[in-house]
Amino acid sequence: MPYSEQHKTVLQAVIHEGALHEDRGKELVIRLFDHNNTAQILSEINAKLQPLCMTIKRINCEITGELYWIFMSTVQDKTASYVSHFSQTELALLRNVYSEIITSDNSYVSSTFCLNLCSSLNAKLTKTDAELFLLEMVDRQWLYCKDGKYYMGVRSIAELLQYFKDTYEENLQICTLCKQELFYGDKCDKCDAITHVFCLKNYARDHSLGCPNCLFSTSRQNLSSSNTNCAMDVEDASQTSMEIHEMAQSSQTRKLKRKHKNGSM
Ligand SMILES: [Zn+2]
Ligand SMILES: [Zn+2]
Repeated sequence: MPYSEQHKTVLQAVIHEGALHEDRGKELVIRLFDHNNTAQILSEINAKLQPLCMTIKRINCEITGELYWIFMSTVQDKTASYVSHFSQTELALLRNVYSEIITSDNSYVSSTFCLNLCSSLNAKLTKTDAELFLLEMVDRQWLYCKDGKYYMGVRSIAELLQYFKDTYEENLQICTLCKQELFYGDKCDKCDAITHVFCLKNYARDHSLGCPNCLFSTSRQNLSSSNTNCAMDVEDASQTSMEIHEMAQSSQTRKLKRKHKNGSM
């Protein structure tokens, strides 16, 4: 089928959303084309995009396993020109959030920690502005937020992987199964192998539940999806003092772990 107005509508929806949930993409395809062969439609759109060095990529959220369609450049470099409509200060905050997520042992950074990062920025950013900015980042899938914790969003993984590779090469982990870079996964208690939760689910369908690396069997935690409770807990005094303690501890270990090359995002 040749490229049509309908294809254009799908492409525009993906561009507009930045990251379009697969269910919504499928709905759109069914409505426009009267069939649900999304793979075919995406490949027809991507053929058209190829000379422009752009593509629509399907990628799983590491936390929920849900699929998103992301409009992205096929040529990635260290600079992230995409975010030009954010201020330098907001970008500095975002870089810091990425850095904390990647160098943390738990693959997330708490919202309190993020807001406290504001005071370490060169230019001023109020906590309220920072909070609004981070919520927008979650809304646009650059970050994922659950229970007041920020994780790497699906869009950042798609669009900024080269930047992350260049900047944090020694801190990036690889999924045991798909061999792709991984920011959040299920860690084996025995051999420390780390695997995407969705890769592990696919694997468990054909194999017994256990570590794909050492075959150690363990009861996997059940990660429920789509709970995006993003409550800020700044006012909670006991929590805050704990966070500060945690901050003091982790900033020490992170200083040791972090290996910044001259990434220029
Ligand atoms: Zn994987
Ligand atoms: Zn293992």
